[in-house]
Amino acid sequence: PENGVPGSSDTGVKVIVRMRPLSKNEEGEMIVQKTSGDSLSILGQQFTFDHVADTSANQMDIFQLVGAPLVENCLAGFNSSIFAYGQTGSGKTFTIWGPTNALLEENSSSDDQGLTPRVFERLFSRINEEQDKHADKQLMYQCRCSFLEIYNEQITDLLNPSQKNLHLREDTKTGVYVENLTESTICSMNDVTQLLKKGLSNRRTGATSINIESSRSHSVFTCVVESRCKSLDGLSCFKTSRMNLVDLAGSERQKSTGAAGDRLKEAGNINRSLSQLGNLINILAEVSQTGKQRHIPYRDSKLTFLLQESLGGNAKLAMLCAISPSQCCRSETYSTLRFAQRAK
Ligand code: ADP
Ligand code: MG
Repeated sequence: PENGVPGSSDTGVKVIVRMRPLSKNEEGEMIVQKTSGDSLSILGQQFTFDHVADTSANQMDIFQLVGAPLVENCLAGFNSSIFAYGQTGSGKTFTIWGPTNALLEENSSSDDQGLTPRVFERLFSRINEEQDKHADKQLMYQCRCSFLEIYNEQITDLLNPSQKNLHLREDTKTGVYVENLTESTICSMNDVTQLLKKGLSNRRTGATSINIESSRSHSVFTCVVESRCKSLDGLSCFKTSRMNLVDLAGSERQKSTGAAGDRLKEAGNINRSLSQLGNLINILAEVSQTGKQRHIPYRDSKLTFLLQESLGGNAKLAMLCAISPSQCCRSETYSTLRFAQRAK
């Protein structure tokens, strides 16, 4: 990965644009071209981000760019997240989980493996390294994972989907949490794979079908990493940080024409949580650049309230904005690029 790319901001938010290849049914030429490590041009207009990944970037490259730093940030004690943003069909799910049917079919060593399995492979190997290095202090790590979906401002436990409409609670000691959400301790890659399989098969999404509901929900995979060690005076010290991998709802403008009642409300809710996230990231970028205090509206949507402690303060964020190079996606691509630009 390139460090110190000119123009890269040293805020907690990194913005990466990933362009997928044209699909078989998209005709014509690509309207987006990468013009340098951190910029692209769309129909003659230039945009600059922290990094641009075009069709030559594979899953391993994306892991090196955002996955490996996610693990290091988390082990260094920062709450760290990766969000995939973009219209339906732009490559969010492919980037975050990989080809989900392959994952469900026990094909986890493929080159197309997504960020999440790669991140956990790295996490386990780094934890082993750290534990060996600090064996004298009896350094021990423990990891707990949860997997949930937010659809229409309602939280469902993907590891136990009979638990719907779970409540967000706030505790002065432990912070924001989801009441009754399943948390599973993971000790190996096999544990992670089992959780992913279970959770992904419980999403509203059919693995590949682009149905309306699937594209309207946010999936959030969270791992709480706790470490414990003994200091020289025999006292224990604890450290906790969390890692979030978030596959956001499709960013396309929700059609409200002809929608009534629940459908209309739902379209409003999806727009709201995505635009709230955008506003919030915008404010956070501004706060970290100017150092000015501002009110940060975490409570305005379930997603931002849930991730409150992973968004502000010292938290590290990577916004992976996925785009299609096709002419037919032009207006949504512009809208994603404008979102990405605002987050910088
Ligand atoms: P989204 O989750 O944003 O709706 P998907 O991840 O489901 O989009 O991607 C849509 C289609 O494009 C899928 O068939 C996926 O396999 C394919 N695809 C996405 N990104 C890439 C990529 N970088 N390389 C190859 N195929 C991709
Ligand atoms: Mg998807």
